[in-house]
Amino acid sequence: MLDDTQLAALHQQLQEREKQLTEVLNSVSDRTQTVALDQQSTGRVSRGDALQQQAMAIANENQYKRELQQVRAALRRMDEDDYGFCDECGEDIPYPRLSVKPEVTLCLNCQSAREGAN
Ligand SMILES: [Zn+2]
Repeated sequence: MLDDTQLAALHQQLQEREKQLTEVLNSVSDRTQTVALDQQSTGRVSRGDALQQQAMAIANENQYKRELQQVRAALRRMDEDDYGFCDECGEDIPYPRLSVKPEVTLCLNCQSAREGAN
């Protein structure tokens, strides 16, 4: 079980990550818009590059969005006192694992089992 100090540390980590991701996502959507505008003004010469850059920016954006969802879900679980348990087997997820990635929902065993199955 996590003690209050550990929970408070993880809560702070999650809040900081949420703030970071929100800021990154704001700047990413600015950049995607800029690429779209450049593309119109520069014509077909850099169109391929611009499209590629835009695709990468969108891929990153989706990844950040997914992470933000996970971070917010973890914060919600903390509010509900349901944080730190494995989704799969219900065991406690050890603190060292949570301190590296506080938004994880699986213990190491279940995570490896799932990755092995894929
Ligand atoms: Zn598990």
